[in-house]
Amino acid sequence: MSRFHITVWPEDVMEVPPVRRFPACVRRDGFIELAVPVTFPERPAGAGAYLGPVLDTGYELVGAIPQELYLRELRDLDLSSPEAIARFCGDYGSLGGHDWTDMVPMEWAADDGVAFDEDEDYRRYAKWNFPELKRIAIRTEEFAGWDEGLDRFFHPDEFRVRAALLLDVADLLLALSEAQPFEDVVKNWRSTWAGTPASLDEGLSRYLIPVLNHGMRPFSPRITLQPEGVTPKPLQPTTLYSAICLQMANDLKSEVTYHVCANEPCGRLFLHQRGESETKKDSGVYYCSVSCGKAQNQRRYRRNKASRESSTNQRNQL
Ligand SMILES: [Zn+2]
Repeated sequence: MSRFHITVWPEDVMEVPPVRRFPACVRRDGFIELAVPVTFPERPAGAGAYLGPVLDTGYELVGAIPQELYLRELRDLDLSSPEAIARFCGDYGSLGGHDWTDMVPMEWAADDGVAFDEDEDYRRYAKWNFPELKRIAIRTEEFAGWDEGLDRFFHPDEFRVRAALLLDVADLLLALSEAQPFEDVVKNWRSTWAGTPASLDEGLSRYLIPVLNHGMRPFSPRITLQPEGVTPKPLQPTTLYSAICLQMANDLKSEVTYHVCANEPCGRLFLHQRGESETKKDSGVYYCSVSCGKAQNQRRYRRNKASRESSTNQRNQL
């Protein structure tokens, strides 16, 4: 239990803008590139550091992210696999990038009264204060310096560090809603580079609130001017990182109830059932998906059948 009450402004749920995404591939040097490989040429002897394929970057897509992505796709992603990360980037958007201005150390620095004139100053600060970030940055810097084009490729660790932070914040959100104990948050805590919360209150004040607030900076009330007869522009695309932060903040302000999937081997925490259901409506709060509902029904049927048979056998033995 937390001693605090969280309030979110504005009170209405904000629509999550669409996210820009590219098909992505893993290069031979292990970096992930947001582009479609066309050919993989042999690297000529003595050539520069570029080990990647010939790429076509003209495949940008923009689309909505799935509901409760932080409970499903992000949680299910195998972060140890660069190929899985590349697929995820192609499907939902990228969390990578050497530009750490989306990351929470900037918020902590602001709390301490530290301001940065240049993003480069901030990156230096982040590296200096967090050895793990320094380790990640060195890999990218060794490879290419802070060259142009770095926004198109990144080391998988750049993705991992953000994914882990978002998953930790999601865990805190679940603990705040009493869907899981705080001890589990600590047990599973991934972002040890940023410290580990000692209590739920510390988790909220040092991690959940600054991470979400910082991630939601792109969203602010705004006024636009449209010529007569021109339909207003739809929401401007945002980054996946910011979209996930807004998704979590929306669920926080809606005071949603997380359900535990009743399919025994699944046990997923979820909000809305996925898949087309032909069964009664409230089954949606028991099973995370229609297939989980079917699996558990079959299990129950087999169990009932087995127990009927064993009681018949017992009767026969008497
Ligand atoms: Zn399930």
